[in-house]
Amino acid sequence: MFASVLALLMAPTAARAAEAPPVEDAPVATCVLPAQPGMTARQLLATPGRFDCTTPQRAFGSGDFWVLSQPLPTIQTRARSPLIRTGSVWQQSVTLYVLYANGAIRQTGYTSATTGEHLRLGARIAVRLPRHDAAKAVRLLWHIRGAANLRGIVLGATLIDPARASEQEVVLGLLYGAFAGMALALVIYNLALWAVLRQAYQPVYCLLLLCLLGYAASTSGALGMALPWLDNNDRLRANGILLGGAGASVLYFARTFFEAKVFAGRFRWVCDGVGAALIGSGLLYALASPWHIVWLDRMVIVSFASLVALIPVVLYRAWRARSNFLWLFAIAWGAPILLTALRIGHALGLLPWSLLIDNLTLVSMAIEATASSLAIAYRIHLLSRERDEARTQEIAARLLAATDPLTGLLNRRAFLEGAIGREGNQMLLLADLDHFKTVNETIGHDGGDEVLRVFARVLRASVPAEALVARLGGEEFAIVAPVSANLSATLLLDRLRAARMPYDLTVTASIGSCIGELTDEIDWKAMYRCADRALFEAKAAGRDRARASLAA
Ligand code: GH3
Ligand code: MG
Ligand code: MG
Repeated sequence: MFASVLALLMAPTAARAAEAPPVEDAPVATCVLPAQPGMTARQLLATPGRFDCTTPQRAFGSGDFWVLSQPLPTIQTRARSPLIRTGSVWQQSVTLYVLYANGAIRQTGYTSATTGEHLRLGARIAVRLPRHDAAKAVRLLWHIRGAANLRGIVLGATLIDPARASEQEVVLGLLYGAFAGMALALVIYNLALWAVLRQAYQPVYCLLLLCLLGYAASTSGALGMALPWLDNNDRLRANGILLGGAGASVLYFARTFFEAKVFAGRFRWVCDGVGAALIGSGLLYALASPWHIVWLDRMVIVSFASLVALIPVVLYRAWRARSNFLWLFAIAWGAPILLTALRIGHALGLLPWSLLIDNLTLVSMAIEATASSLAIAYRIHLLSRERDEARTQEIAARLLAATDPLTGLLNRRAFLEGAIGREGNQMLLLADLDHFKTVNETIGHDGGDEVLRVFARVLRASVPAEALVARLGGEEFAIVAPVSANLSATLLLDRLRAARMPYDLTVTASIGSCIGELTDEIDWKAMYRCADRALFEAKAAGRDRARASLAA
């Protein structure tokens, strides 16, 4: 895309430098005369001195005009007759008179309704000069009716070889095509991602892209070329609506893209006001033109000037709010905002009309689209980081909810969740420390806690991997494992006796065990009762021992 822009910008200069003279295109200077009844082309061509060649065209306001060219430059053409190319502007009709070296005058022309067939990419109107025997065209005279004259009456008139014009259009076509492809791809991938990420700025960005796509199609003239029946003035109305929509979507995009605090308070109302002005002025321009078209056009310009003025405020507020997205936004929108400012300068008559500014707008939008996709990628990166953190926290929270904080064993809830529903015969052990009340009394409650921790470690280290170990509460522990795992209560008791306890205290436990099924809650209750009965028996028989019982 940038290569084609470069080609577009370099090509004319390179060509001119290499083969000057002769050239394949040359600007045509023009002079203006407001139309009066009774004026005829022949009479005006004979009196070029009546035309005003110094006052800027814009100063004449709206109306009907005669525009006379200076003597035509000589260009080299590969075709039999050259084109006269002008920028497309709001007007009702154009009659073009061509004066030949032999004094003959021929005419051609178009109305806003028939502009389509002359419209070329870059929104330029190209008219082939009618041929007159072998005589050379020496002057052109346009009779223009209903000129809005917002930026001029005859804009950027250029005499050009048709082949050269086609070459330039190919480059422009590449440029617009690349932009359209990029914008479309961004719309599709943002919509697809929106389904997953649900970020408010994504549909707004798509709307913005669609407005820009529409605007690019309309302002480039492509819309008029695709629909030759479309009245050229209606194409300009569409420009107004799409441009207003794009401007308002830029604001709305910023609002959904930045953190809420950037647009907090009264500033939000200001932005809403500017957004409404952008849409309102675009709509009004589209619907009411050519009624007071100069004022309607100024309203559009003022609303865009407010948008341009608002952006630095947005950036400042984002900076104050320490927004994460400030630089991305500034880089993405820097070029388009600058270009919009240049275009406003041109619209206000501060800068001359330039094909460069016209087409750089597209390039700046391409820069914006690229940078915005990077910005969106960055936001996605932040989101995925947030998601990973949330996931880690969730895992930690789940772990916390499943474990007993003192011993790190499973708690009762998690144990039941894991134990009930196991396939096949299971063995349940209930282990209860002996005379734990005395332990607490002897070495204090903290010492008692440490005894519980040591006991938990011994249990965990002494059971097979598939066993679940839990602290059910107080100094009562439970272990469940498949019968095939050969859980041994006596081994556990041995290990406990051998364990080093705080203050070298001797701590023993009693264990009750039971074998049975654990498919549901009812099984669990039966198993627990059974193992508890065995535990009671072990205690009754003198403690520090294991007893087994059978499920009823
Ligand atoms: P037995 O041999 O019959 O089991 O006698 P025991 O003293 O171990 O039984 P009892 O159930 O009467 O007492 C259990 C004691 O365990 C009472 C309570 O203070 C203590 N205990 C319960 N939870 C904790 C705890 O988290 N830390 C400490 N240090 N002690 C606890
Ligand atoms: Mg006890
Ligand atoms: Mg107890």
